[in-house]
Amino acid sequence: MGFTAKKVRGMRDVLPPESEKWIYIQKVMGDSASFFGFMSVRTPIAEFTELFCRSAGETSDVVQKEMYTFEDKGGRSLSLRPECTAGTLRAVIENESSLIFPVKLMYFGPCFRYEKPQSGRQREFFQFGLEIFGGSSVMADFEIIRTADYIFKKLGINDIILEINSMGCEDCRKNYRNSILNFFNEKVNKLCKICQERINKNPLRILDCKEKTCQEICSEAPSIVDFICNNCKEQFEELKSYLEITEIKYKVNAHIVRGLDYYTKTVFEFTINTNGYDLTVCGGGRYDGLSKKMGGQDLAATGFAIGIERVISIMEEQRIEFPKLKSRGLYIVCLNKESKICAVKIAEELRESGISVDLNLTEQSIKSQAKFADKMGYRYLLILGENEINKGVCNVKRMSDGIEFEIAIDDNFCDNFINKCECIL
Ligand code: ATP
Ligand code: MG
Repeated sequence: MGFTAKKVRGMRDVLPPESEKWIYIQKVMGDSASFFGFMSVRTPIAEFTELFCRSAGETSDVVQKEMYTFEDKGGRSLSLRPECTAGTLRAVIENESSLIFPVKLMYFGPCFRYEKPQSGRQREFFQFGLEIFGGSSVMADFEIIRTADYIFKKLGINDIILEINSMGCEDCRKNYRNSILNFFNEKVNKLCKICQERINKNPLRILDCKEKTCQEICSEAPSIVDFICNNCKEQFEELKSYLEITEIKYKVNAHIVRGLDYYTKTVFEFTINTNGYDLTVCGGGRYDGLSKKMGGQDLAATGFAIGIERVISIMEEQRIEFPKLKSRGLYIVCLNKESKICAVKIAEELRESGISVDLNLTEQSIKSQAKFADKMGYRYLLILGENEINKGVCNVKRMSDGIEFEIAIDDNFCDNFINKCECIL
């Protein structure tokens, strides 16, 4: 049996017309973030594995189960990025001297996680995200949330719910950790195997476990809210007040702890209820401690990531219209050597005048070329058959009503064409 090329499980192709939806979403997100003062950052798809172990945490699902890790030819352990925050912060730390803080960055790109592929969960997926470095004020948390809110409104997504929580500072977490440790120690036999191992390393991580039995136990676990110090409480209230001023609806959900180890204080998620369950489309929060953990200076940091595939599926489900594909302008039909030379010249002239032109790329008959142009939705056909070339003209056909006219191929060709086909521009 011969070889048949197939894509990797959990990874997908995006072809037209779906790819146009991607371009649109990326543009709305990029333009919105730019409007809020963010600038683009691009970091490598692969990083040293240790970077993710340090940032996401050894006990996180991402590091324990989901990373694409491999050895390069020099024997170094590299991993495909499971998220973009660690790489972005690494880039900021390495280039600190050339940046002016606070710095506001946006990124768009693929991430990889070895998860069980299912609806809304792929092994390669795309994230759009924002990060603010050096913004220690609660205002930075607010601006991040406000930008996400702006993006979802721009896209026309309905019924999206913002849930917020505070995970407190290191001190609050220490007390909380002890209390949760006692709680889980009493129920250790009922936890899944991985959580049983987590209990002494990082009991907070259990709250993020997706196993049903663990989730049931977690619903009765002590709440972080009861362990937050006055300062953290005040900051949480400040954030809420900004959300109220700007009329961004939110719910406080004490169970949001986020999947990665590095969050402190504000954490949040935007979720949508689809087909009876809550789908998270955006997650983020503050992670002031991470820079130091990665060998950098103390650096306030806050950000979020949006899953693009989930945004598209929700927009499709809510029947939100994507902008129509740009209709195609002109298709030039040509056949023999002479007419092809003429086609190239005409295409060049028209393109210089800003008219979008497609050239026939086949050796098919004029009839087949015309059929193709009709199927593809071109508005005009420009035919350069043998008769036309002999006469020094081209035949232009308007596809909507079949009206045809001749235009002389002379010095005024372009002007004449534009006059007759005004609507094409
Ligand atoms: P979940 O709880 O759904 O596993 P997460 O907490 O692991 O999400 P984050 O690490 O916060 O996700 O990533 C931010 C966003 O990226 C998610 O809200 C989601 O929209 C998207 N995302 C995460 N993992 C995947 C995946 N495997 N496939 C598609 N999108 C994903
Ligand atoms: Mg996950």
